[in-house]
Amino acid sequence: MSELEENLARIRARMDAACERSGRQPDSVRLMAVSKHQPPSRVAEAAAAGLRLFGENRMQEAKVKIPQSPGHLEWHFIGHLQSNKARDAVSLFRVVQGVDSLALAMELHKQAVKQARSLPVLLEVNVAGESSKFGWNPDRLLAEFLELNALSRLEVHGLMTIAPYAVDPERVRPVFRRLRELRDRCSDLLGAPLPVLSMGMSGDLEVAIEEGATLVRVGTALFGERPRRTDPDAATEATEAG
Ligand SMILES: *Cc1c(COP(=O)(O)O)cnc(C)c1O
Repeated sequence: MSELEENLARIRARMDAACERSGRQPDSVRLMAVSKHQPPSRVAEAAAAGLRLFGENRMQEAKVKIPQSPGHLEWHFIGHLQSNKARDAVSLFRVVQGVDSLALAMELHKQAVKQARSLPVLLEVNVAGESSKFGWNPDRLLAEFLELNALSRLEVHGLMTIAPYAVDPERVRPVFRRLRELRDRCSDLLGAPLPVLSMGMSGDLEVAIEEGATLVRVGTALFGERPRRTDPDAATEATEAG
């Protein structure tokens, strides 16, 4: 087994154990490979190991990498997106995770109309209210949710969050729980299910799964430590989890 295959086996075992502890089916949680900073060769390696879902958080990098990668992969944009990159996001990505304002949602809707597609989105929530992070304040999201949902070319599939870093993942359990509760309240407003909860990364995926994650986003536990960015616009585009 290659190192990546070994890492993948370890991640799957962690996911399965968390599902078992919480009485969930293992196929109720999707694993996303977060390939930011990784070259196309690493994406190809992960695809060969059976991964299909990939996440990128920077448009410049994605624009180069996605066309060089196997065609059957599903790409999600997972970071903060500037409105002037909405057009590229709609043409390159199947899903935009991290829609964090009504203004961005309206721009994505406009671009989706132009490109004659509908766009699944997840709404990013700043559950812990960290000033360094993007995302909706929970009350504001509840206030704007129906307006968002009225954008006909956006399909709101659920919520996502980036939990604060903690050495002990138990400490972020309340963040994941609050995201799930907020999802339930949005779903009540809507009168329809919002099935997706994107939460949990390399260090805290078990706790996220126990609290209801349906998609975990894993970078370093799969690929190892990220190579440093070398391209010139890295500094201006770095995001919260960059
Ligand atoms: C980088 C990143 C991840 C993956 O983080 P790891 O700790 O390397 O697993 C997940 N989600 C987002 C939004 C990221 O930017």
